Amino acid sequence: MSGDRTPALSRSAADRDAATREDPAALEAAWVNGKVLVVSDGAALVSDDGPSLVLLDADDAPAGDRLYLGRDDTSSYFAVAGTLPRRLGARPLGLREVGALLDDRDAGLLVHAVGLTNWHATHPHCARCGAATEVARGGSVRRCRADGSEHFPRTDPAVIMLVTDGADRCVLGRQAVWPAGRFSTLAGFVEPGESAEQAVVREVAEETGLAVREVVYRGSQPWPFPASLMLGFRAVCDGDAVPHPRDGELEDARWFTKDELRSAKGALLPTPVSIAWRLITDWLDGV
Ligand SMILES: [Zn+2]
Repeated sequence: MSGDRTPALSRSAADRDAATREDPAALEAAWVNGKVLVVSDGAALVSDDGPSLVLLDADDAPAGDRLYLGRDDTSSYFAVAGTLPRRLGARPLGLREVGALLDDRDAGLLVHAVGLTNWHATHPHCARCGAATEVARGGSVRRCRADGSEHFPRTDPAVIMLVTDGADRCVLGRQAVWPAGRFSTLAGFVEPGESAEQAVVREVAEETGLAVREVVYRGSQPWPFPASLMLGFRAVCDGDAVPHPRDGELEDARWFTKDELRSAKGALLPTPVSIAWRLITDWLDGV
């Protein structure tokens, strides 16, 4: 599902094909005829032509767990964590660098592969008994060798919100570690027992002291650094209110007009791979 306003990392063209995960013979056939994306620390080999992912035939893939990503009309796709291949005219790149530049198929494959390999790399043991776990069902599960319990990939929900005055201004903040002059939307993790809408109200209050209302969902994007799902919102606060950074997360937070953001162009805003950019750009465009 993709369109001009789909967040960059929410694009995909492959079918995740859950049925094949459950069928070992189908999974083996998919592997033999499939294409393999090698991932190392969140990066894959990307050809300058396109740019596009470098996909290997199964015979050329490094040894390692085969993580099934799905299929389309032309091929089946797997990810394997391992040493990246070398090719002329190609280099290792991560989602932050190339996620917005890849086509729908490759963006979807890379974000799926990075999220899945991140999880497998950090969950080698059973959370119940501590024994080693192993990959099952094409990589969509890890199973405990001692007690047979199944463990599913973890996704951490976070909210990210553009706060406006309901008219021509919005509130953006900046963290000290960001490039000079960069501002972006407020964001934070959803806490246990909390709705996403409650998290929006709480996070804005914690980070800036502002009280927001009219919290409206705008769309989501996976953000596998290492395992977040960003839930995008727009919210309104009193235009007379003054944001004050308070919880130590932000070094500055202030109002910007649409003209200020447009004239600053890329210098001020987050990169197009982020859902923050999508939220701000939609608002600037009156969408
Ligand atoms: Zn166990």
